[in-house]
Amino acid sequence: MGAPASREAEAQKDQSMLIQKRMISEHFKQLEAAPETKVPVVYTFVPGNLTELIRSFGALPLLPEINALQSGMRGKSRDYIAEAERLGHSEDVCTYVKCDIGMVKAGNIGPTGTRLPKPDLLLLSYTGCYTFMKWFELLREEYDCPTVFLQIPYQGDGVLEDEHRQFVIDQIKSDLIPALEKISGKKYDEEKLRHYLGLSAQAEDDLVYVLQSAKRKPSPIDAYFGAVYYVGPIFSAFRGTEDGVAYYKALRKEVQARMDAGLGPITPEGPLDDQKYRIVVEGPPNWTHFREFWKMFTDWNAVIVASTYSKVGGVYDFGFRHNPDDPLGTMADYCGGCYTNINMPGRIEMLETYVKEYQADGFLINSVKSCNSFSAGQLMMLREVEKRTGIPGAFIESDLVDPRYFSAANIKNRLESYLQMIDARRQGGN
Ligand code: SF4
Repeated sequence: MGAPASREAEAQKDQSMLIQKRMISEHFKQLEAAPETKVPVVYTFVPGNLTELIRSFGALPLLPEINALQSGMRGKSRDYIAEAERLGHSEDVCTYVKCDIGMVKAGNIGPTGTRLPKPDLLLLSYTGCYTFMKWFELLREEYDCPTVFLQIPYQGDGVLEDEHRQFVIDQIKSDLIPALEKISGKKYDEEKLRHYLGLSAQAEDDLVYVLQSAKRKPSPIDAYFGAVYYVGPIFSAFRGTEDGVAYYKALRKEVQARMDAGLGPITPEGPLDDQKYRIVVEGPPNWTHFREFWKMFTDWNAVIVASTYSKVGGVYDFGFRHNPDDPLGTMADYCGGCYTNINMPGRIEMLETYVKEYQADGFLINSVKSCNSFSAGQLMMLREVEKRTGIPGAFIESDLVDPRYFSAANIKNRLESYLQMIDARRQGGN
């Protein structure tokens, strides 16, 4: 009965994909109409995004790095990056930034083909990436609009201290809420915010259930390539929305159906039920060759069981949930706990936990040229995780949205040698 079950799973997957597609398309239509409808638009970044607060003022969030990765997936980033480099942005600059700047200069038509509105506010929650700050400086020059810079203390000692938390709450009260009141003409409504935070927590529960389903054998999901789609709504504009809740309910249901049927994920190459290698991945994916990259794994029946990238917009699987009973405090906790705000020992511990708890056969670091925030220290992480787990790791290099830095042959060779090495170790019994 394998084939009908897989067809059923495929049909259910289509349902969640359809929900997500509709949500994204409606969101971009609302953004396009914003200059006429006078709905304020807040540009912000994925890590540390305060979507519930933004939406509680009736404003719409717009996330430049989501536009950049979408442009990468749709084959548009090469030209945008070339345009930014022509304008003088160096080859070393994060390619998300250059892709975004190139898109703005080319008329600001977003990845779905609709025009993007100008920001009414730039909201930067500084969660460990210096580039975010420089990026918004460029956009501020472009748009000459108000900016709020929330300073989120780095978890240097591995915790967000009480005074750090209070520092963030104070800034939300003194800087952010007044700025949102000004652009929206609305007063801060804590009850509305609590309601949205409650919706966030529901969606977060379902997302964690989905991500942790990869502990099963076979894993019913791919927790890197597939998870990119799963985290999409919660990492972008839909946390705290009814649509977000509906999406994660549908997703959980279809993953549950695959679990019950003992099936693996549906990949672009078909179902991956027969899984020979369980891998943990650190680092963001490459977007320009996303399907080709994924296929390198599925060709070898390798499934990704956990990844750090799927935590970049919120580390929920270690227990954090947005808490409607403490609206401002929970936002401070969320920002402080973002992956890019966690120190090296914390990231190593996370990888070690994943390798052990998800019974991985190996772990791979995809070191991305553009992103210092992820790449710094990755070789040290590799060695440390190897030491703690007794499993050798693999290291490859690529880029986010610059197709010049994706060398398919090199990556394929590395990956194949690595999987063969896992085989050899199995046969050798170590
Ligand atoms: S450097 Fe990395 S974390 Fe920072 S904006 Fe670029 S991709 Fe994002």
